[in-house]
Amino acid sequence: MGIQKVAVIGAGTMGRGIVHVCALSGFEVNMQDVSSELLEKSVNILGANLQKGVERGKVTSEAKDAALARISCITDLEEAVKDVDLVIEAVPEIMELKLEIFSKLDRYCLPDAILASNTSTMSITEIASATNRPNKVIGLHFFNPVHMMKLVEIINALETSEETYDVSAAFCKKIGKETVKINEFPGFVTSRINCLIGNEAFVMLQEGVGTPEDIDKALKFGLNHPMGPFELVDLVGLDVRLRNQQYLHETLGEKYKPAPLLVKYVKAGRLGRKVGKGVYDYTDK
Ligand code: NAD
Repeated sequence: MGIQKVAVIGAGTMGRGIVHVCALSGFEVNMQDVSSELLEKSVNILGANLQKGVERGKVTSEAKDAALARISCITDLEEAVKDVDLVIEAVPEIMELKLEIFSKLDRYCLPDAILASNTSTMSITEIASATNRPNKVIGLHFFNPVHMMKLVEIINALETSEETYDVSAAFCKKIGKETVKINEFPGFVTSRINCLIGNEAFVMLQEGVGTPEDIDKALKFGLNHPMGPFELVDLVGLDVRLRNQQYLHETLGEKYKPAPLLVKYVKAGRLGRKVGKGVYDYTDK
């Protein structure tokens, strides 16, 4: 079984990026979210990102138009998933929400369809338990910005079949991604390491060890990280990071307890670039 048609559930930062790469690679994609206004906003951002690709000579104008023509924006979940071979869920990192969506996906999708989650940290085995097809549930963890980041972490849950893994890995290759095969454990590889580094940076800021600029510069020029931890968390979203951190704290213990300063920033609404202010202020940029 190969993948011909895809649905992406949740058209936020990650969902629209996944739609972008799938459509550009020739797949028909249904993009679903809770309102048509959100879908319209997402498709506009996605179109602007494709246009930047054209200006940089990475995408032809014809390929951009063909990609946009492959995308259908649909608010009704059943309508969006009823005839697809692969669903990729990218709604917020809240287990109850993911369980509710997977239980509906199981009812609405074709019996052979693969159901994937883009969760950064959560148990695919638990998500699969909301369905009657745990052998067809898998984690496909993309990175932000999806059209620029090479990796997809493929997460096998307890019951994921080898066929589901093979079809998913072949699909990732077709959309131009490198993959790693991960056996499920909270935070997989990347989120677990990234949360530790990011949280330690907040602890240092709290302790007055350095300014955000100096802490970021130390990691970039001293440890060769492409981005500093504060630049990265502003891109990811502080609310998204805090949810990941709280889940790892619950599942892996004290080592992952969110820094009080991260919690304080989220309470203040400083959620990162998406709202114009996170650790850094983007209002003038
Ligand atoms: P986001 O908040 O930008 O987008 C989530 C979208 O889901 C929103 O558009 C929202 O309207 C929609 N949504 C909410 N409830 C819905 C429902 N019932 N049905 C359909 N759509 C619904 O979040 P995001 O940053 O794109 O994160 C999505 C997932 O991807 C999370 O699990 C997150 O942990 C994971 N992830 C995020 C990043 C990142 O850098 N932001 C990286 C990798 C993985």
